[in-house]
Amino acid sequence: MNIILLGPPGAGKGTQAERLVKERGLLQLSTGDMLRAAVAAKTEVGLRAKTIMDRGDLVSDDVVIQIISDRLDEADAKSGVILDGFPRTVAQAAALDAMLARKGMTLAAVIEIAVDEAALVQRIEKRAAETGGARADDTVETLRNRLSVYRQQTAPIIPYYRDKGALKTVDGMASIDQVSADIAAILDAA
Ligand code: AMP
Repeated sequence: MNIILLGPPGAGKGTQAERLVKERGLLQLSTGDMLRAAVAAKTEVGLRAKTIMDRGDLVSDDVVIQIISDRLDEADAKSGVILDGFPRTVAQAAALDAMLARKGMTLAAVIEIAVDEAALVQRIEKRAAETGGARADDTVETLRNRLSVYRQQTAPIIPYYRDKGALKTVDGMASIDQVSADIAAILDAA
């Protein structure tokens, strides 16, 4: 099964995706991780993406759509993927629909992890302190920009999927275990 995890930065998408990898054998496809790998490898895409990512802005739709499309063609994606951090704009969501249709793939569920923004700022500050700033975009100033980018460019994909009848929402303010249980219930019913 192929699923999308949606939610603002710090909502717990990565944590829940890791659990789904272990429990359901799905492959986690995080465009953020792929872009960070490109930055580390100093590829052309990585060099262009770095400043954009450091600011907390979005890399261009064309770049991430191509990265995901190529990755979905690899053999290990055939048994099911969790899209984590993609799509992030309505244009990416529409491109994903077209790409899945072309590749003969379907979405089992789009799961929104809903959280309170004030609590998010606290969570990200904690993550920044714990990782000692290992991620250049894990600073409070960048977080504020990432949240505003989320509100303006990514949140519109929630009604996009709701209108298609594909959206399920879980309470991301619950404990990590409870969020996992709520996601499991959605996937078991899908
Ligand atoms: P993440 O690890 O998902 O928080 O992503 C880190 C950064 O990578 C984001 O702040 C963006 O700059 C970039 N990025 C990741 N995924 C996307 C995407 N789907 N579209 C555009 N930019 C992205």
